[in-house]
Amino acid sequence: MAEHESLEFGKADFVLLDNVSMEEFMANLKLRFEKGRIYTYIGEVVVSVNPYRAMNIYSRDVIEQYKGRELYERPPHLFAIADAAYKAMKRRNKDTCIVISGESGAGKTEASKYIMQYIAAITNPNQRAEVERVKNMLLKSNCVLEAFGNAKTNRNDNSSRFGKYMDINFDFKGDPIGGHINNYLLEKVCIAFGKDFSCINDGADFKAVADAMKVIGFTGDEIQTVYKILATILHLGNLTFGVDGDVTLIENTKLVSVIRELLSTKEENVEKALLYRTVATGRDVIEKQHTTQEANYGRDALAKAMYERLFCWIVSRINDIIEVRNYDAKIHGKNTVIGVLDIYGFEIFQNNSFEQFCINYCNEKLQQLFIQLVLKQEQDEYQREGIPWKHIDYFNNQIIVDLVEQQHKGIFAVLDEACMNVGKVTDEVFLQGLNTKLAKHAHYTSRKLSPTDKSLEFDRDFRIRHYAGDVVYSVVGFIDKNKDTLFQDFKRLLYNSSNSVLKAMWPEGKLRITEVTKRPLTAATLFKNSMISLVENLASKEPYYVRCIKPNDVKSPLLFEHERCRHQVEYLGLLENVRVRRAGFANRQTYPRFLQRYKMISEFTWPNHDLPSDKDAVKRLLQGCGFDHDVAYGKTKVFIRTPRTLFSLEEQRAEM
Ligand code: ATP
Ligand code: MG
Repeated sequence: MAEHESLEFGKADFVLLDNVSMEEFMANLKLRFEKGRIYTYIGEVVVSVNPYRAMNIYSRDVIEQYKGRELYERPPHLFAIADAAYKAMKRRNKDTCIVISGESGAGKTEASKYIMQYIAAITNPNQRAEVERVKNMLLKSNCVLEAFGNAKTNRNDNSSRFGKYMDINFDFKGDPIGGHINNYLLEKVCIAFGKDFSCINDGADFKAVADAMKVIGFTGDEIQTVYKILATILHLGNLTFGVDGDVTLIENTKLVSVIRELLSTKEENVEKALLYRTVATGRDVIEKQHTTQEANYGRDALAKAMYERLFCWIVSRINDIIEVRNYDAKIHGKNTVIGVLDIYGFEIFQNNSFEQFCINYCNEKLQQLFIQLVLKQEQDEYQREGIPWKHIDYFNNQIIVDLVEQQHKGIFAVLDEACMNVGKVTDEVFLQGLNTKLAKHAHYTSRKLSPTDKSLEFDRDFRIRHYAGDVVYSVVGFIDKNKDTLFQDFKRLLYNSSNSVLKAMWPEGKLRITEVTKRPLTAATLFKNSMISLVENLASKEPYYVRCIKPNDVKSPLLFEHERCRHQVEYLGLLENVRVRRAGFANRQTYPRFLQRYKMISEFTWPNHDLPSDKDAVKRLLQGCGFDHDVAYGKTKVFIRTPRTLFSLEEQRAEM
């Protein structure tokens, strides 16, 4: 536990607080922030406060100081967690993952990059060219993804509008041999024609991005097509519709020829797709003219869909390139994984819509995983092993997860049901559905259910009591965003392009109108499914956590807004985390395994013991070394309270 660090910087591990209270926690967090100590542990969890200034703690020298060391040997750092995950992977053959959470602007993406940088720096001592190539790709891919997936928001100049989970695969030597990226929900609506995205914002920067793409292995044609798609999206933003009698028409027809050119398709096709949609009525296929409103809707949907498709295509191309290629490594070698999850934190905006709803649901899922892994499993194990244990209370948010994802009566189910209705479905109908099904739910309310609550608008708002706080959502747009319809005519238009790269992005455009029968899955269902599989994936790995805190809303390196930070500490469940950790044990091992590793340090156990059980033997060994006070003996496992004890055992073993 980093005891060499002087106390003038506060406690390096919250577990060492004299009293576990919010006051002491906050005082320690603030003191450390002010002293430039932005990282603090809770056991193996890193709590990080965004410094909003360049810190001199990420250099090659510092990396060297953490390499191969134990967590408690050096001051708290992301590098120590990265090293712990790496060691677990290499020594114990475990798949591990590092889950980085926190709200927008708290420093998640920066943290994920430092972790990647650390892993890249400590691997490949033999300088194998293939490993260098893979590492270079993994690092470069970050830059490309950020260019297309990040935007300037009022909370963060470089805000990730998508969640990212990246697996890094390692060979038996512990060197990276490939990777895989999953992306989650690119926030299309906030794109507003993509203008805010870094790749479009800054012409000069795009050259750097194009260079990075080239290095990764995108072809010239592919990069050209990316340019063309971005240009098309911008032009679509300037396209306007008017009416002449009852005919809808495009006002600035010149733009149509520009777009036609960019998309390598026929001019009349572009115009037709923007103004008409083909519908099948029974056996007949007819062309129905859009109203201006429909035409506007269609144009916006096209721009958003093109952007989203482009982003997903970029991710899948990167995956093609970085996936584990070496056949031998794949089949024979031991192939282990470190996953890094950098995902949007809990969001409360002035106006919260479908996107915030999905993002906050995602955070409920991750909190549930944290509870399962860190709080619940830990307590369950002590109980199972018969270790005296005072139960620690924490809020279990499963009830909110259910509120959102439960079949038939969860919010997503009600939304999907509303979207299935034929005829005119409105957002208000959806809200009525919620009010009927969820009237009694403790975490749901609306104006209809609490008529005196003036902060909620009739026919528009509902409020969820999230684990992290109350959020009012406006239902406006939920139905459209969930259906996420892109008129089939556009899909056909893009599929029929003579640009083969573009064509390949839109395979479903191949279907003729009469062949399109299946309703596509809704955005909510797709998102729910992706979250469920994400959580399953994380749960199968050994998790490490980085909990990021945003100290203020003005990006100041000096300001520690007490209330702002306290709120985050509260909803991240950090106090509960400290309590469980403090009451708990740093390490546990089954008796036979413990003996196998340490029997040589005691005359009672070396080379074999004659005691009635392994448990008795372990007891005798630990009494002999004077560590008896720091351990508890469970039914099948010995529990070691402090890491220092384990460390001493390791030292004695090494001296043998
Ligand atoms: P979002 O959810 O919006 O993507 P985020 O949690 O990923 O937010 P970052 O983009 O990582 O937030 O951080 C926001 C900004 O804070 C960075 O652009 C950088 O200026 C600053 N910052 C974060 N972490 C650090 C750090 N360790 N050192 C210096 N500056 C930092
Ligand atoms: Mg980010």
